Amino acid sequence: MPYKYPHPPNLNPHPEPRPDPNIRLNTRPRPRLNALSPTGPGPGFTHIPQPPHSAGLGLQGLRPRIDPSQVPSAVESVEGDREHWGGRGVYTTLPEVGKKPPLASTSEVEFVDQGNSTPNYIRLTTWSFPSTSKLANECGMPLGAIVQPFSDGVDVPGVRFEDSNSYSSHASSSGPPRCSRCRAYINPWCTFTHLKFKCNLCEAETDVPEWYASPLDGQGVRLDAGRREELCRGTIDLILDQAGEEYWGATSRPPKPQRCIFAFDVSAPTFFYAACVALINTLYGDGDGDRGWNGSELAIITYDSTVHLWVWAPDQDTYTTNAHGNANAPRLLVMPDIDEPFIPVPTDALFIDPYSTSGREAVRALLESLPQRFPSPHTGTALGSLLTTAQSMLHDRGGHVVVFLGAIPSVGLGALPARPVNESEDKEKLAYRPRTPFYPNLASECAEQGIGVSLFLGNDEWIDVASVGTLPTLTGGSLFFHPRFNLARDGPVMESQLKEDYLRRDHV
Ligand SMILES: [Zn+2]
Repeated sequence: MPYKYPHPPNLNPHPEPRPDPNIRLNTRPRPRLNALSPTGPGPGFTHIPQPPHSAGLGLQGLRPRIDPSQVPSAVESVEGDREHWGGRGVYTTLPEVGKKPPLASTSEVEFVDQGNSTPNYIRLTTWSFPSTSKLANECGMPLGAIVQPFSDGVDVPGVRFEDSNSYSSHASSSGPPRCSRCRAYINPWCTFTHLKFKCNLCEAETDVPEWYASPLDGQGVRLDAGRREELCRGTIDLILDQAGEEYWGATSRPPKPQRCIFAFDVSAPTFFYAACVALINTLYGDGDGDRGWNGSELAIITYDSTVHLWVWAPDQDTYTTNAHGNANAPRLLVMPDIDEPFIPVPTDALFIDPYSTSGREAVRALLESLPQRFPSPHTGTALGSLLTTAQSMLHDRGGHVVVFLGAIPSVGLGALPARPVNESEDKEKLAYRPRTPFYPNLASECAEQGIGVSLFLGNDEWIDVASVGTLPTLTGGSLFFHPRFNLARDGPVMESQLKEDYLRRDHV
């Protein structure tokens, strides 16, 4: 009797799962592959494979999160640039392929001016320029340059265009040679022929002045090119004191030593004290004996709800008060009419050379004594009246006004509301506009007269920066903001800022 298996073995290791009765299948009849052929597929019919799904990237799953390591990091760029330049330390300004200047944050680099200005003085916002105008229009990339003519760094030679040929009668009165078409100054990239030079900007040819002529070598280079700073340096100072009216600018007046007015708001005692200390250290802090001031002078004004002028010239006017009873001490002159400010003394009497024999002692003594003269807080700040006074002191020669402001201007000209207006959200932008045309108008007048206004703010309460800030913005001054002024924290910072703003030196 043959052996019979009790049960047939299950040869399918993957049995089909039973259909889930909860899933409704698509019961629509599928089209038959041979539907187009009434006789069905021919004898050579084979299954047509689907095209491979290999075009493009396959599905990688859901989009991953942003990888922080892939985001450009300014900190890494700054640190990387420092490391890159740390070992070399010298940047020359002749162009080379692939050469990039160090970032502005990398200070441990020595710059060598080879006929192009160093990045301290001029720095472009990009390293790459479109090569054609079409490309420039299509990419729409804004291009800019940061120009810092008073930056520290390389020593800038001063060039006086004097006639070295004693037999020539017309010498330096015409100033440096300039392109006859675009008025560009002579520079290392101008090319010379026998009697002319070609402008590197517009390629116009201009006659070389007789007093500036020089023989050329076989390469067309002037024999004196190495001795003339303007022909081998990218940054020079043009000394134009003898050059004439052409260089006087829009004000059409001869250059004079600068006058600077320091105005202190005495209504905030702590800020006032810090400002006096900052100015003493700025003027006489270190190496004060050799600053080459060439007759520059300063005036000191204090103000709260009135304006106080300090008169330096000796005068026996009974309406003025001597601060110390000695001859060098200035006398206080209070100007009570803040709506129509005027100066009752000659303007020259308000200015003094802080480095003259008598001026050094007098200015220092006044600044040291001022905080004791105004020890308690005052209400009311007549900023507009003060600025109008300062403007009238400088209107005929220009100058610099450094204002220390400790509270919102509340009285006199240009008085502002003590509180911000609660604007609705759609009018929020109004909070960034000046609330009175007084300050923009005054700033425009100052700019025309060559007066720059710098502003130090040390306020404890709200102050309308949008209004008073137009003064430095429109006059080329600086704005320094120290909200809730703290003597220990902000005093040294303000002193450093004052030194940089007034002396134009980096004293950090
Ligand atoms: Zn030109």
